[in-house]
Amino acid sequence: MLVVMQAGATQDQVNRVINAIVALQLTPHPLPGATRTAIGITGNTGAVDSRRLEVLDGVKECIRVTKPFKLASREMHPADTVISLPQGTIGSGHFTLIAGPCSVENEAQIEQTAEFLLANGVKYLRAGAFKPRTSPYSFQGMGLEGLEIFKRVRAKTGIGVVSELMDTEHAAAVEDAVDIIQIGARNMQNFSLLKRVGKTRKPVLLKRGLSATLEELLMAAEYIMAGGNYQVILCERGVRTFSDHSRNTLDLSVIPPAKNLCHLPIFVDPSHGTGKRNYVPPMALASLAAGADGLLIEVHPTPDQAASDGAQSLDFPSFQKLIDSLKALSKPLGKTIN
Ligand code: PEP
Ligand code: MN
Repeated sequence: MLVVMQAGATQDQVNRVINAIVALQLTPHPLPGATRTAIGITGNTGAVDSRRLEVLDGVKECIRVTKPFKLASREMHPADTVISLPQGTIGSGHFTLIAGPCSVENEAQIEQTAEFLLANGVKYLRAGAFKPRTSPYSFQGMGLEGLEIFKRVRAKTGIGVVSELMDTEHAAAVEDAVDIIQIGARNMQNFSLLKRVGKTRKPVLLKRGLSATLEELLMAAEYIMAGGNYQVILCERGVRTFSDHSRNTLDLSVIPPAKNLCHLPIFVDPSHGTGKRNYVPPMALASLAAGADGLLIEVHPTPDQAASDGAQSLDFPSFQKLIDSLKALSKPLGKTIN
């Protein structure tokens, strides 16, 4: 249910509606807008009796939200969500690049990559300190030592860091060390982890599960938002299909329906989506054309020596070339690259 306040409603009237929602043992989510405030309601298992709220001063109308994802739906929040961070705005006509190695390997690698990215106008670095690997014998990431590297490189260069949180145990440490918390594909339906990041106040980049439908992805976003963290970025990274010509099947067809149903920004990861570095640039350009809000791309100073995912990682000159192509394509699309 969405309670829409009249354009001139006072804060006092808004507060009285919030108190009435709490008295009904439901959870209010105030959604301030440019012209009017609305208050989303969650926590109900059945229909809410809207008459109890419609009679309150300042209330314009109560709208039933038909989708199972409430806070993530456009019905509840018609305007696009815009995420403002010191390193740059995400959403709202900005096309944001997040790039870097699959894993943190050492401090020099992260510092060198951060400097290269900043010199090329890219404000966010990705790298995993905790790595979800198919084999327990593969490199598992540097863990807490990797987080210390992020802290030092962030402080030194000002770059924004995006890194994966794999379990609730490390939530506080990852939140402290990064600017955007990544939830990986394998954990998209780890509901205790989703609830935990719902309690953080850092934006969350939520990757689509290996075989998740759009509705399941949006329900996973809903878990985070229901906890009070509304800063969620969706990320398409390819799904499992019968096709074996690429690592995964990058489902760019999910972008228009995601935009239609949901107000959150959506990124694309063409690196995990294709698994081969020569396929990354065409799918990156296609993502921009399809309406994505940004890209998550694996870039490594020496891809052939990477500890993980070297085959799908671009080297620095190839990434520079891709940035030029993205810039050229962004102009007719009316987007700015940041
Ligand atoms: C990653 O981004 O390094 C990663 C492990 O991605 P995914 O969860 O999409 O496999
Ligand atoms: Mn990877």
